[in-house]
Formats: sequence, structure tokens, C-alpha cells
Amino acid sequence: METKKCLTCGAEMDVNAIKCPSCGASKGRKKPMPKSHLAWAIFSTLFCCLPTGIVSIVYAAKVSKTYQQGNIVEAYRKSKLADRWANIGALIAFIPLILYILVNVVGVNIALVSDILKNLGI
Ligand SMILES: [Zn+2]
Repeated sequence: METKKCLTCGAEMDVNAIKCPSCGASKGRKKPMPKSHLAWAIFSTLFCCLPTGIVSIVYAAKVSKTYQQGNIVEAYRKSKLADRWANIGALIAFIPLILYILVNVVGVNIALVSDILKNLGI
């Protein structure tokens, strides 16, 4: 079996393989640079949650450099982490809003139930 090196992860693979068995790169070609998610990271830091946003920015800032150093698999990992931490920050920011809505909905239900009970003469 003739093999070649995958340009994305460096694993040996069959020259005729459609996908690299190690990283999934099409025909073992070099994957394009992943999104850094930097804009989303900054937005999340400013408007959602500072600590998780900073983690996100740190990862986002390293995506392009890691890619240019030839560590493509690692660049993809950092891209994913930047996105994940920005999302976690956004989620944390929305928890008070969700709680607020839940409490109000539950509050309405309690009023409704006590009204029904009153009407029943309980
Ligand atoms: Zn590969």
C-alpha cells in the first residue's frame, strides 16, 4: 500500500483514501484556516461575561498563529474552544433573564391557582 503524509495532521495515510483516517481532512489536504471567533469572543466579553470572554479571546487570538506554525489540528481545537467559551459566557449572561421569566411565569400561576381556590371557597 502506497502511503503519503496528511498535510493537516501529519499522519500516514493511503494515497487513495478519500479522507484522512486520523483528522478527517479531505484527501489529506491542508485544511483552510479555522475561524478565530474573535469578534464573537470580544462581544461575549463586553456584553456577557468577562472571565469566560477573556478565555475565549485568548484562544481566538492564538488560532491564526498556531495555524501558520503548521499546527493545523491544534488551530482547529483553539477555534472550537474560543467559540465554546464565548457561548458559555453568553449563556451565563442569559441565566438571570431566564430565571426572571421563570419566576414571573410561576408567579402568575400561583395567583391563578389561589384565585381558583378562592372561587371554590377553599
Ligand atoms: Zn490528517
